[in-house]
Amino acid sequence: MDIKNLSGTVFVSPQISSQDLSALAAQGITTIINNRPDGEAPRQPKHITLKTKAEALGVNYHFLPITPGKMSEQDVIKFAEILNTAPGPILAFCRTGTRSTNLWAQAQIHTQAGEMSAHDIIQSAKSAGYDLSNLKPLLEKAEKIPQKKPQKNRAHDIVIVGGGSAGLATAASLLKRRPKLDIAIIEPSELHYYQPGWTMVGGGIFTSKETERKTRALMPKNAKWIKAKVSKFHPDDNTVALEDGSHISYKILVAAPGLQLDFDKIEGLEATLGQNGVTSNYRYDLASYTWELVQNLKKGTAIFTQPPMPIKCAGAPQKAMYLSGDHWFKKGVLENINIEFCNAGGVLFGVKAYVPALMEYIKKYRTNLNFSENLIKVDGPNKIAWFEKTDTNGKVKIIKRSFDMLHICPPQSAPEFIKSSPLANAVGWIDVDPETLHHVRYPNIYALGDACSTPNAKTMAAARKQAPIVATNVIAKMEGLNTHAVYDGYGSCPLTVERGKIILAEFGYGGKILPSFPKWFLDGTKPTRLAWILKEKILPPMYWKGMLKGKEWLVKPDPKNHVPTIDLAE
Ligand code: FAD
Repeated sequence: MDIKNLSGTVFVSPQISSQDLSALAAQGITTIINNRPDGEAPRQPKHITLKTKAEALGVNYHFLPITPGKMSEQDVIKFAEILNTAPGPILAFCRTGTRSTNLWAQAQIHTQAGEMSAHDIIQSAKSAGYDLSNLKPLLEKAEKIPQKKPQKNRAHDIVIVGGGSAGLATAASLLKRRPKLDIAIIEPSELHYYQPGWTMVGGGIFTSKETERKTRALMPKNAKWIKAKVSKFHPDDNTVALEDGSHISYKILVAAPGLQLDFDKIEGLEATLGQNGVTSNYRYDLASYTWELVQNLKKGTAIFTQPPMPIKCAGAPQKAMYLSGDHWFKKGVLENINIEFCNAGGVLFGVKAYVPALMEYIKKYRTNLNFSENLIKVDGPNKIAWFEKTDTNGKVKIIKRSFDMLHICPPQSAPEFIKSSPLANAVGWIDVDPETLHHVRYPNIYALGDACSTPNAKTMAAARKQAPIVATNVIAKMEGLNTHAVYDGYGSCPLTVERGKIILAEFGYGGKILPSFPKWFLDGTKPTRLAWILKEKILPPMYWKGMLKGKEWLVKPDPKNHVPTIDLAE
């Protein structure tokens, strides 16, 4: 092995072998980035072989293949994300190390710690044996952009934690109302995803790329983007701490950090995700693998799992199942495929009105419904999954099922830094009043989106409705108004029961049906073509160009419905 240091804890080398991995782990390498596409040379080890061995040794493994001469800006951003988030020391490799060194050099423009000058970057690469002089103009140009300094302790009137669907929409709604507000959004990711599109990627309707945009392009013009991760909340001091140790203080805090996917709670799962027929539409990089598996499956057993609630988009596990069933039905192979829906819960869908129409599709795709079955363990190479089945007396037994394809919806919970914060309720979610989205203990904190404690369906549709409510209430708070807007718990779940038809579930607190359209136009309890057109053609542009830009179509709070504020938190 010919390993060279590039900077700090980042190393580079030419192609490594599977045998090298034990030595690398022994030397303390904790993350490996493979930048070489499979099949460039006859005896080159396959990425899956390296991944399996690395993960067995407890080493994180990332596959970011770069075809020579075809490195894109997205590749650089993804590499920078790994440098920013993965534990070090990190080793990146390709055939000779040149592509990895190039990625590292350009990633300096995007990393939080991107403190190196163009000259230093080129010199470091040179000391490691790589000539990057051709990158000099690009690196020098980037050097002039004042974005790389670590965040010093600073203050903003409004700080939003999380620039996902809810955070960006709230910032846009606030600025629509008061364009001069001083707002900072703390968001670590360079890339933003339209997650509702991943079901469509898994069904072969969208490509993954269609669901991805650069965060920078979506940030509201008048908001300050702080590209960092929040690590702690200090609500008594009105500050948040960032991972680099600096603090940002605020007058009002809006928390919208989403939720975390707990794939690691299922034994054996992480080592096999993305191979051996095991997939999940809950991850950007795996949704296209779902579609690959669906197209290749001609006979056998396909299992679709659903963990205990709450999860984001509670319909997504079965949406994946219906779209797969529809493909197999249309290809004439459904009679050779056994579909199992293993649901930790006890019902097909939480709101009764939609169940009869869904049951028609359960019958059509000859699906076996297995309720109270919770996935606990997966053996990918042998294609076996284990479930805990709880009977009505609470007695638990283990059920073993073989599969050819396994689509997983992972268990989900509040992010760790929320669970351990003073903002959390007893089970970890941010403790807010369900109507005002105002924190129940801290009068200058609001929360919305997947991370908050409200008992609505955790969906982008809910965030779309919540954002203008929070914007209205934050402004009322800042300006001392004595009324506030009220959130009714609206959420929506477009159930893709077949390619071209959707059952459009729209409901609020307590399962109250809250349709956006009159029944004669669109009856959400029936599969309709119109709802499909909405999902495929209308909702994505409505998200990028409407919701994230502060255009509040169908969700603008009506001042007539505002109610007097009795601020118990004061
Ligand atoms: P996110 O959009 O996940 O954003 C959270 C942000 O917080 C992220 O950008 C993250 O980087 C940031 N963050 C995390 N940690 C930190 C930190 N420490 N410091 C600062 N920032 C941090 N919804 C629908 O309405 N309809 C659908 O059809 C639908 N289908 C779905 C299908 C799938 C497969 C999935 C996965 C989701 C689906 N959803 C759907 C749900 C929807 O995408 C989410 O409910 C929505 O994105 C929630 O928005 P959010 O802002 O709360 O979280």
